[in-house]
Amino acid sequence: MTDRSVSPTMSGHMIARTPAGWQPESWQRELAEGYRLPAELLAALGLDAAMHADVDFDPHNPFPQRVPLSYVQRMRRGDPSDPLLRQVLPLLSERAPSPAGYGRDPVGDLDAALAPGVLHKYQGRALLIATGACAVHCRYCFRRHFPYADAPGASEWKSALATLTDHKDVYEIILSGGDPLALTTHRLAALIERITVLPQLRRLRLHTRLPVVLPARIDQALLTLLANTRLKTVMVIHANHANEIDTQVRSALVELATAGVTLLNQSVLLQGVNDDAAALAALSEALFDAGVTPYYLHLLDRVEGSAHFEVPTHEALQIHAQLRALLPGYLVPRLVREEPGAPAKTPVF
Ligand code: SF4
Repeated sequence: MTDRSVSPTMSGHMIARTPAGWQPESWQRELAEGYRLPAELLAALGLDAAMHADVDFDPHNPFPQRVPLSYVQRMRRGDPSDPLLRQVLPLLSERAPSPAGYGRDPVGDLDAALAPGVLHKYQGRALLIATGACAVHCRYCFRRHFPYADAPGASEWKSALATLTDHKDVYEIILSGGDPLALTTHRLAALIERITVLPQLRRLRLHTRLPVVLPARIDQALLTLLANTRLKTVMVIHANHANEIDTQVRSALVELATAGVTLLNQSVLLQGVNDDAAALAALSEALFDAGVTPYYLHLLDRVEGSAHFEVPTHEALQIHAQLRALLPGYLVPRLVREEPGAPAKTPVF
């Protein structure tokens, strides 16, 4: 299979480019055919673009809209408040001046860089920026301004990983991005092979939204790859609303679990999306039905352009208390915030 190349946008996020002669897998075709223009997305949902003056239709948006067809098919037609639509539709409010406390690197990624593309924040773990590409551009993304162009390309993974050779205390590698499953299976296999030779490593973790937004990505080649590494494999998916978990997503998750992958979910508490205990309870139930343990519920990382998604801490605490009353403890995700320089995620009580 030929690799797809990617190129950085102005924001540093990557957009897929299709080389001549490239033969895509079905998930890659779906990725390439995703909605890039807000007007097209609204039209597909039976919404009149002229009635939505709050939408940012700028085709040169440095963090452009990007959303796969199968994710759009889970949105409610005719509903501008649909919780899935709200996560992906660019709004003009993203350009408003940010309130105090918001910044371009809200979780201190740049200060945690051990080497280009390698972040070391927490004891025993290191995070590798495997790619800047994503299948979807989540409007609240804490890395929407990350300088992906400075992260290593495939040819430089070797040197990035070499920096970890001397870190005998790092026993878990986290593949993040962007989204590591936006890499072709061929490139992902090459990366995992390089990781696996580090003798101190016990676990491989993938942080990915692909199983949720593009479940066709979970194909047999990927399942075989993940089932055959010597490392214990953990996948932390990212779903925020029960409507994201349809039959195809559930099947993909069950296949991952069957391949021996431990599945966890992290969500972000988002105003107008899931700031409601009943919605979060439905999400936990849907996740558990698919074999996924609810792990974290994050307060919004205060990245420039996302302030309209913030749920105040006192409201988050109320919602979380209501959630605890609705669910058994094992279905209640931990409410946390990420603080730059902290040795772990900070529990919010
Ligand atoms: S998939 Fe993850 S990295 Fe990509 S835009 Fe969404 S939150 Fe950000």
